[in-house]
Amino acid sequence: HARRIEGMEKNIWLEFTQLAADCKAVNLGQGFPDFSPPDFVKKAFVQATEGEDFILHQYTRAFGHPALVKILSRFFGKIMGRQIDPLGNILVTVGAYEALFCTFQALVDEGDEVILIEPFFDCYEPMVKMAGGHAVYVPLRPVSTGAALSSSDWVLDPEELASKFTKHTKAIVLNTPNNPLGKVYKREELQVIADLCVKHGALCISDEVYEWHVYDGAEHVKIATLPGMWEHTITIGSAGKTFSATGWKVGWAMGPDHLLKHAQTVHQNCVYHCATAAQEAVAHGFQRELDYFGKPESYFLQFPRQLQQKRSRLAQSLLAVGMQPIMPEGGYFLIADISTLKADLQDSSDANQEPYDYRFVKWMIKNKVSAYSKQVPVWLQSQCLPFTVPSTRRTLKTTSGSVLLR
Ligand code: PMP
Ligand code: GLN
Repeated sequence: HARRIEGMEKNIWLEFTQLAADCKAVNLGQGFPDFSPPDFVKKAFVQATEGEDFILHQYTRAFGHPALVKILSRFFGKIMGRQIDPLGNILVTVGAYEALFCTFQALVDEGDEVILIEPFFDCYEPMVKMAGGHAVYVPLRPVSTGAALSSSDWVLDPEELASKFTKHTKAIVLNTPNNPLGKVYKREELQVIADLCVKHGALCISDEVYEWHVYDGAEHVKIATLPGMWEHTITIGSAGKTFSATGWKVGWAMGPDHLLKHAQTVHQNCVYHCATAAQEAVAHGFQRELDYFGKPESYFLQFPRQLQQKRSRLAQSLLAVGMQPIMPEGGYFLIADISTLKADLQDSSDANQEPYDYRFVKWMIKNKVSAYSKQVPVWLQSQCLPFTVPSTRRTLKTTSGSVLLR
């Protein structure tokens, strides 16, 4: 095999998805809704495939179906308060995954350093490595010695962050709302990151796939809108997360031409373009949301309210079984402190070989699923990870504890 994929065979999703299936546990870790997308996008998809327009079954423009890039530029132009060129500033990809991949391949060179904020979505690290880069880690830490009960209690230490920027730093990856903690970065926190990017000429790769999933009135701020940051930022989004249609795998990267054109080069040499009908349906979804922007009918307004209720019920269920939830301000996921359970994992397989959270979740799937199966229904796509102060990177960096009792 090629050296660039060395050590990357193991994959958390493959392993835990299989285990959940084998043990008939509900998989709350993978991050997809257990309900349908809204009717207006489903109808748009049906219309795209069953309508008269044969062209929607054929190839479309490589960097994004015209209808989709046009509406994305209008929609995000309005949100960001700037002109976005549908042809030069947007690349439509096969999910946010491909947008991330193209961005790393296009902009990270051999030996470049890329700063990852822990805990982070698992694929950033192998993607940096596949591009020849080195990951540099900086943790979110709980604010004080007291209990950190909300994702907002987890913050970057500005001095520690500054110390990670060197002359080799090519980029920092930001993920807000964060997976798995649910942290929604405040404007002041983003300003610290932005200042460092500008000072060091570094890029910000901003993964905002959960931008509409914010709770308790928290505000999602796009770092690309901070002064000077458009030129330094690639913003990544996901129609799958946006419209609860994760299987459609439509995503995008957005940014200034001088950065985006290189991501387009990678895309044109691997995927070329993604499914036309799915792009057409997503375009209709955004058109509808533009029409209803800020109005009570808006899905982007309604959906987080539904998720917020599910979040509360899940938190209550976790409390009831002795776990301490850390309330997420955004996203699909929830982390819980399992330290008080003091589970005896001695006879679990691979004892002591793997991080405690891996072993705990495996133990829980194997030993607890049938016992609880009729008691705790699934409320939300969620995760259950141990609460660990980020001294042991291995434990926190993974989005591992994917499967919860049902
Ligand atoms: N980034 C984050 C933080 C995610 O949670 C996900 C969903 N797995 C992705 C990117 C990938 O999104 P998509 O399904 O659109 O490829
Ligand atoms: N857990 C990922 C998400 O956040 C999904 C990863 C995968 O399916 N490969 O949705």
